Amino acid sequence: MEVKNNIKELHAELAGKKCRLIAVSKTQPITKIQEAYDAGQRLFGENKAQEMSAKYEALPKDIEWHMIGHLQTNKVKYIAPFTSLIHSVDSIKLLEEINKQARFNRKISCLLQVFIAREETKFGFSPEEVLHLAKKNLSESHPNVEIIGLMGMATFTDNQEQIRMEFRLLHSLFKQLQDKNLFPAITMKELSMGMSADYKIALEEGSTLVRIGTTIFGNRNYTSQ
Ligand SMILES: *Cc1c(COP(=O)(O)O)cnc(C)c1O
Repeated sequence: MEVKNNIKELHAELAGKKCRLIAVSKTQPITKIQEAYDAGQRLFGENKAQEMSAKYEALPKDIEWHMIGHLQTNKVKYIAPFTSLIHSVDSIKLLEEINKQARFNRKISCLLQVFIAREETKFGFSPEEVLHLAKKNLSESHPNVEIIGLMGMATFTDNQEQIRMEFRLLHSLFKQLQDKNLFPAITMKELSMGMSADYKIALEEGSTLVRIGTTIFGNRNYTSQ
């Protein structure tokens, strides 16, 4: 019941906004995901390839599966056949592997993960690297990959203003890349930012995809996995 109510509340909060909810279901059991599905949720986010693949097999096929965690190149093959969007493209090497694994299949949509936080542990490209990458004709060199936006994570802090500035930076990069004269080879549609603790700020700063786990499912129980 709780999951259902949380989903309904978040759907109501996002109604009328150009932002969709990704229910982050990593470590959560099938029963809880099914509960969210029954409440009308269709987009789910996972951060481990094999876990996502097992859940894809077990659950209804109209679910959109989003990869949101750091993805090792040797794991791309597990999700290439079905994933809707890979948010966490953080290296050229990974982009190349996704392009390779999609070959016999279809185009795979990707977001470039941008490093916006002050912490050193987060993966991603710097804004400068993204601008450099976006100038290249990636659709020619990587025909099976489609880059449709950016993803970022703010610093884990109570400082709301700092979080806001980091999201604002990502949004301005996103806007900059929408200039068709400067970046004809890239289409910027999705801006993935905002988690349980900071999604309200992300919404105000132009997020189109919020990734919310704890607020929907409660705390994750890593030991039961
Ligand atoms: C786990 C995770 C989330 C969800 O975090 P919550 O705080 O539980 O909402 C969002 N994005 C990424 C990349 C994650 O790994």
